[in-house]
Amino acid sequence: YYNSSTQLYLNGEFVPAKDASTDLYSQSLHYGYAVFEGIRAYNTHNGTRIFKAKRHYERLKRSCELVHIPFEWDIDELVRQTYKLLELNNLKDAYIRPLVYCNPNMTLSEPSSVNIMICAWEWSAYLGSKQVRVCISSYQRPNPKSTPMEAKVSGHYVNSILATTEAKSRGYDEAVLLDQHEFVAEAPGANIFIEKSGKLYTPSLGHILPGITRATVLQLCKSLDIECIEKQITARDLKQADAAFLCGTAVEIIGMKSIDETTFPLKWSDSLGATLQRTYKCLVLEKQNYEVFI
Ligand code: PMP
Repeated sequence: YYNSSTQLYLNGEFVPAKDASTDLYSQSLHYGYAVFEGIRAYNTHNGTRIFKAKRHYERLKRSCELVHIPFEWDIDELVRQTYKLLELNNLKDAYIRPLVYCNPNMTLSEPSSVNIMICAWEWSAYLGSKQVRVCISSYQRPNPKSTPMEAKVSGHYVNSILATTEAKSRGYDEAVLLDQHEFVAEAPGANIFIEKSGKLYTPSLGHILPGITRATVLQLCKSLDIECIEKQITARDLKQADAAFLCGTAVEIIGMKSIDETTFPLKWSDSLGATLQRTYKCLVLEKQNYEVFI
């Protein structure tokens, strides 16, 4: 992720990544009390462009608010500094990781000092480009009454790591987690859509991360005249779907080949997901009519 010349942004300054460190008495390290973002920059015809940068920093701010971490930075300034970070590191296509963390405090009360760091590295599509074999995880997503699941909180990702590790150990590429009522929620780091009889369905908000890619897919559906319904989806709905896909900043749009032992009957290239995958690529690369969506 970094080498001897990599710079990262830390509380208003650029510093060599190899010299940056954190306090071992950090509330974030001990309790997972931090929030973060995952953003992508693309090398487009118009130069390096960070896709929906402002939206991501707005979600970072919202995540902080939901868990009472003070957020005192200017969003436009963070976007400017992120472009500068890419320039300093000579990155054109990049994954960008802002992290807001608290240092030092061993109590369970409000943070004593809050920091922001932003780093970036080259990262190809997180799950590759081939359709993925997915299993339903034995882990559920945490109950939104115990922690705000719409915030991108570091501690929530213990659940994601457990689900991913389990899926891989069972020979699958990825997991899908159900919520506490056994409805389909999301993948460890992506949202999910299913296709049935020419329509798309995706779990409604409330117990999942409000994905920026998910919102983009909904916008694309509108402009492509694809009907997409947000509703509760059961594991049975998922298994009886014609096709399905995952979407997120890191994975972009990736088709699902199967769920548990059930292979989806529709050929990926004939699915609505494949159309959306192509359109999404055009959008992030600013290839055609992209202004409509940003
Ligand atoms: N759900 C979870 C749990 C995630 O970690 C992510 C990745 N941030 C997503 C959904 C997709 O969100 P986005 O499209 O904003 O990357």
